[in-house]
Amino acid sequence: MGLLSGKVAIITGAGNGLGEAYAKLFAKEGAAVVVNDLGGPRDGSGSDKGAAQKVVDDIIAAGGRAAANTDDVSTVEGGENILKTALDNFGQVDILVCNAGILRDKTFANTSEQDWDLVVKVHLKGTYCCTMPVWKWMKDNGKPGVIIMTSSTSGLYGNFGQSNYGAAKAGIYGFMRVLSIEGRKYGIRVMGLAPGAFTRMTSDLPGFRDKEPDPMALPENIAPGVLYMASDLAADHTGKVLGVSSRGVREIKMMQTD
Ligand code: ADP
Repeated sequence: MGLLSGKVAIITGAGNGLGEAYAKLFAKEGAAVVVNDLGGPRDGSGSDKGAAQKVVDDIIAAGGRAAANTDDVSTVEGGENILKTALDNFGQVDILVCNAGILRDKTFANTSEQDWDLVVKVHLKGTYCCTMPVWKWMKDNGKPGVIIMTSSTSGLYGNFGQSNYGAAKAGIYGFMRVLSIEGRKYGIRVMGLAPGAFTRMTSDLPGFRDKEPDPMALPENIAPGVLYMASDLAADHTGKVLGVSSRGVREIKMMQTD
């Protein structure tokens, strides 16, 4: 019996990096997993359409259950199709991890309207588009689950050269707080995640690039913190952002409302 036995999880942006590590750990812990990834748009090339299927193949080869989806998280239709993949293959959804992301880091004066719109769209609207159908399904079917939204220290404290990303991640923090309050009525838990530095995304950033990578801050070391949030071990927790890094799991307190 794994920590997620009998559960169905959707993980967006799970063809690489953190999402891939979450998908593989969740499957190992007994969840059936929908692996979503549009495929390689991080550098604008959009060339790796097979990323989600490869992760699914790895999970199935290891004896787990998974299904691939290559929809764009930042469209209403994409979010609906991702839920449909879960329902068609596994009949339910218990966990959503909004992880898909993209970066266009530049100092603010060099951030074009296009850079701004794309990053805010993928992160903030993407979290909305994926959450809405899952939220309605959980609420309407009386099957409350867990929604984990990826915020960032960039949105909570700020990082140089990330005005668009920081704005989107701060927005996700506010979104998470509001939904956690609305979710109490239905038993839906909504949690935020601020992953430690040196994820695949941050490893190319100026400021991170020149530092010695922390050998422990690997996706495989961040994934157990996300597993904890998704599992019944965290049944009493909602509306909290957990900072998960090689230094362990800690709650990041932005405000004292409860
Ligand atoms: P990290 O490991 O730091 O989370 P990655 O770049 O490895 O960073 O992971 C982000 C993933 O999100 C990538 O695999 C990328 O293809 C995916 N992604 C980016 N934009 C979208 C989108 N609009 N829809 C679905 N997946 C996306």
